[in-house]
Amino acid sequence: MPELPEVETVCRGLAAALEGRRLDRVEVRRPDLRIPFPPGFAGALQGRRVLRIRRRGKYFIWELDDGTALLGHLGMSGSMTIRAPGTNFPPPAPHDHVILTTDDGAQVSYHDPRRFGLMTLSTVAGVEDHPLLAAMGPEPLSDAFTPAVLAAALAGKNTPIKSALLDQGVVAGLGNIYVCEALFRARTSPRRLAANVGRRRIEALVPAIKSVLTEAIASGGSSLRDYRQATGELGYFQHTFAVYDREGQPCPGCDCGAAEGRARGIQRIVQAGRSTFFCAKRQR
Ligand SMILES: [Zn+2]
Repeated sequence: MPELPEVETVCRGLAAALEGRRLDRVEVRRPDLRIPFPPGFAGALQGRRVLRIRRRGKYFIWELDDGTALLGHLGMSGSMTIRAPGTNFPPPAPHDHVILTTDDGAQVSYHDPRRFGLMTLSTVAGVEDHPLLAAMGPEPLSDAFTPAVLAAALAGKNTPIKSALLDQGVVAGLGNIYVCEALFRARTSPRRLAANVGRRRIEALVPAIKSVLTEAIASGGSSLRDYRQATGELGYFQHTFAVYDREGQPCPGCDCGAAEGRARGIQRIVQAGRSTFFCAKRQR
């Protein structure tokens, strides 16, 4: 599932292809994704110039030249493919739900087999107050996300820190992967109650969150370099994780497997229906 770094990568790729370009043709191939497309969706985009593409949490925002904003989310399985001008566009594949053609002849298609994504309309002036964004917490890579801010958001929360960090109202854009990675880096147990994460731990957690995201965005950026080649699918990239999806493998942070003379290493538990990966020795 795309999290903040993947959405950031998608936005950077789209910005390179779309900013300054006019959307000449917008084809919407079904009435809905997770929610219906708003009435007049294609017409509102068609003929408009894209001024800026940016990210908020896991959402992407396209600012258009008439003050309209396209607000969207990649859901569980959404991706964007950019095809450069002059390339042969294949016929739409199954699950290609939105296809846009720009005035320079590039094509951008939105593909989403599971259809948990969404696209809707807002205004550039009002998009931060849109119901999907209004209650969202601070951007983790912004200066507004500080230990004091996180401490205030966690105070009195009687949920595990793992679940609290997935709450988009606490901090924007984190999902299962990067929460596991940040907690590992900060040596904090995912099972610890949010309210019991002390100031010293929070002071380690904030830079851990910032560094795992920054490194993942850098990986995404390197995958982007060739996006203008024949098929530039945006949304997923190879990235190395310390704990995520590594159950039973050696822990990169300590000798927790070897020391006890048995295979242990990274463990998996289920919290709120989602897998958590961690090292029980290193993370307390
Ligand atoms: Zn370990």
